[in-house]
Amino acid sequence: MRLTGLVGWRGMVGSVLMDRMQVEGDFAHVEPMFFSTSNAGGKAPAMAKNETRLHDAYDIEALKRCEIIISTQGGDYTSDVFPRLRASGWAGHWIDAASTLRMKDDAVIVLDPINMPVIKEALIKGGRNWIGGNCTVSCMLMGVGALYKAGLVEWMSTMTYQAASGGGAAHMRELLTQYGTLNASVRPLLDDPKSAILEIDRLLADKQRALSAAEIENFGVPLGGSLIPWIDKDLGDGMSKEEWKGAAETNKILGQGAGFGTAAVPVDGYCVRVGAMRCHSQALMFKLKKDVPLADIETLIANDNAWVKLVPNNKEATVRDLTPVAVTGTMTIPVGRVRKMAMGTQYLGAFTIGDQLLWGAAEPLRRMLRIVIEA
Ligand code: NAP
Repeated sequence: MRLTGLVGWRGMVGSVLMDRMQVEGDFAHVEPMFFSTSNAGGKAPAMAKNETRLHDAYDIEALKRCEIIISTQGGDYTSDVFPRLRASGWAGHWIDAASTLRMKDDAVIVLDPINMPVIKEALIKGGRNWIGGNCTVSCMLMGVGALYKAGLVEWMSTMTYQAASGGGAAHMRELLTQYGTLNASVRPLLDDPKSAILEIDRLLADKQRALSAAEIENFGVPLGGSLIPWIDKDLGDGMSKEEWKGAAETNKILGQGAGFGTAAVPVDGYCVRVGAMRCHSQALMFKLKKDVPLADIETLIANDNAWVKLVPNNKEATVRDLTPVAVTGTMTIPVGRVRKMAMGTQYLGAFTIGDQLLWGAAEPLRRMLRIVIEA
């Protein structure tokens, strides 16, 4: 039984990971050792077998006992602990949700339904660092990876609609609190069917602009009833880091681009935070390398993996199946609105959604654990 360290298991990604590992019976294949940055010595969760106490997540000697470590603790933790752990001689498998190590030469971004050949080759060469991809990129590739695998994509533009949960638990709470505050500010007028909608609108905008510093602590500005067209750091060249990840990670996952001695496929667009609770949505536009009949494209997409679901491009199916509310908490990756665009027959549009805590974060990690165990 492989001794497997779990760090960050009570965070948002970690909790979803624990759920999925239980559902899929992963704990039957490992001896789990739970770590904490805040409660060392506390009681480990019910999945523990022999290691019933929480270990200090900064204790290198304790971490070194593990053959495999899965961290969903965050980038600061990885930056601090991972180099010290490797410097101490630890040669185990490190599986991580944070972005810190993603672009390192010795790290593979794992999304096995899309890049199993890349993972297998790295395993054969002695690879030890397995990093989950950016949530939006992973969900996008689970939906339309077939077009890349078929070598059809000349370039792709993606416009994202990303949920509050992408920021973590505190961000979700902040959004809901804002919705409550805003609702309360106009409640008497809402309850009165004769009240004027412009009065409600004006009061609401006043309240949004008057939210306190505590009420916008995580997002920095109001998100309830609004949107924020910037996610992650400002790279100083007009691009956000989230937008940069789109091209860098898509190509690295697919095993193409500078690091692989091949041309990268250009990927660019705008990443926008919207007032959805969970699930990242994106409107995609492709320039295809050739004109492919729409029916063939739909077949390619629908047959790529067990989780993608082609949604017929009509209003009824779209509003029923292609929303964050429909997708939240499910493993399904719907792809809809697939049609040729007005710019020409090589221009293809599509809309896709994924639960970014499942395929966008936890799922590729637990699947990588199984791949390592079964290798
Ligand atoms: P998170 O919810 O903030 O959890 C991270 C850690 O915060 C926990 O493991 C826990 O560590 C600590 N913590 C402090 N107070 C807590 C509380 N009240 N409840 C739960 N945990 C608390 O972060 P996350 O969203 O899971 O993200 C973890 C990593 O995954 C990050 O690197 C992130 O970039 C990456 N990621 C996130 C997403 C996403 O959609 N959220 C998607 C892909 C990748 P202790 O138990 O040690 O105190």
